[in-house]
Parts: sequence; C-alpha cells; structure tokens
Amino acid sequence: MSFPLVSPPHLASTKIVIANWKMHGDLQRNQALMHAYLQALSPLAPEVKVIVCPPYPYLAQLQSLCQGSVVSWGAQNVAKNVIGAYTGEVSPRMLIDFGAQYVIVGHSERSTAYCESDENIAEKFMLAKQHGLTPILCVGETLLEREAGVMERVVGKQLETIIQRFGGCAFANTIISYEPIWAIGTGLAASVDQAVAMHQFIHETVKTADSDAIQTLKILYGGSVNPQNALQLLQHPEIDGALVGRCALDAEAFIEICKSAVPTTV
Ligand code: PEP
Repeated sequence: MSFPLVSPPHLASTKIVIANWKMHGDLQRNQALMHAYLQALSPLAPEVKVIVCPPYPYLAQLQSLCQGSVVSWGAQNVAKNVIGAYTGEVSPRMLIDFGAQYVIVGHSERSTAYCESDENIAEKFMLAKQHGLTPILCVGETLLEREAGVMERVVGKQLETIIQRFGGCAFANTIISYEPIWAIGTGLAASVDQAVAMHQFIHETVKTADSDAIQTLKILYGGSVNPQNALQLLQHPEIDGALVGRCALDAEAFIEICKSAVPTTV
C-alpha cells in the first residue's frame, strides 16, 4: 500500500501541550473545563500550543467551543481504513469533518487493552497523515523492559515499523510522544535524564532515517506530568512539550503545566 504524502501545516517552533481526556467528561464538565482553559491559555499563545483530545462524541462540542481560539483539538484514536463495514471505528475523514487537526495513535492504553500491533499503529499513523491530520505517535516501554535495559530496542522497533514501511520521511510534520508505560497514570514520572536520553535516541533514529524529517518532528514527553515536575521537563531544550492525562482534567493543574512551557528568559 502506498500513500501520497500530504503535508499538514508546519508545526511552529513552540512547545506543545496536549490534553488527553481519555474516557472522561460530559457536556457540562467539558464546557466548564474548556471555559477555564480558554480564559487562561489565550495569553500563552503563540509560545505554547495547546491541543485537546476529548472522547469522540465530544469533538463537535470542542469544535463549537474552540473554533477561532488558540486551542486546537484532536481525537484519541482513528481507524486504519477510510470507509466501509468497520463497526465501531471512526475514519480520519470523519475527524476532519469535526475540525480535528490531530490524532493520538498507539497510546499504550489502547495497544495493551485492544492488542494493537506496531504494524496496525503504523497504518493508522500513515492514513491519518495522508488525510491531513497530524498524528501524535505514542511510544514507550514497560517497567520490565526498562529494568531489563531494553527500552531503546523496544522504542526503536516501534519507530522502525513506520520507517521500514513508509520511510523516515513519514515523520515530517508529525509528533512523537515518549510515554514510558510505567509512568502513565502512576504518579511516577520519568526523570528529566531518563526522558532526555530517550528523546535523543528517538531524534537520532529519525535523523538517521531522514535528515529532513527531523527538522519538523516534535518529540514530547508523557507520563504523570504535573505542576510540580512540568517546569523541569518542559524547560529542557530536548523536550518539545508534554502529553498530559490525569492533570488535564483539573483546569488549575493543566493551566499551571501550560504556563511551565512558556520559555523563560534568563
Ligand atoms: C497519557 O494519557 O498519555 C498520560 C500521560 O496520562 P497521565 O498524565 O495521567 O500519566
């Protein structure tokens, strides 16, 4: 299968903070949360780019609340097919219909619970890109894999699956979020050193595959980011932003994290 490459809009050289609401929220709560987000986050643009990924049914609500604002929205998953008899699946075209510009692919909560293979994730990544969505690829290792010292091999395989199938150029104008599985939802974030070491590995892997693609690739960190650790992580030049789960459901905490991404002048 070969895909024509459609370049999504170039990602500005800002830090990116993504709210992954997972399967949380309702119409009323979303409205209150977005009201708080929008009031506080507008002054942070363009230095901080905020993307909110609600559950599918709320994409229309996000579209009506965020259209014309500094906040963009996206989905938490996408089908690997465009149209057809795929009960329960949502096509990239449908996401575009609701103004989504981004989509998370390969989140470990999906790959673990719904047995998504690296190959499956690679297909979703490319199909999303082909349709003009910016894919946010989640990669990361389990605690056992880290303890065994094979975390780079695991993340390398996740990246190589895409590189071998579609070439390193597939990563141009996309986002990778390094999300150690042991850090997601556990309160135990990776240290800055651990995150930076993996970011450098991801950078080198993509650069070796395609030295142009690396220029427009953003590499984020995700896993128990909170207001206490955000500044250290987000001010590091190797970390282009954060993917935030639990703390994105608390307006105050999320806003604090976004503020930590504003470049500080020394
Ligand atoms: C996530 O959902 O990808 C995530 C990082 O969650 P949390 O911030 O709760 O660890």
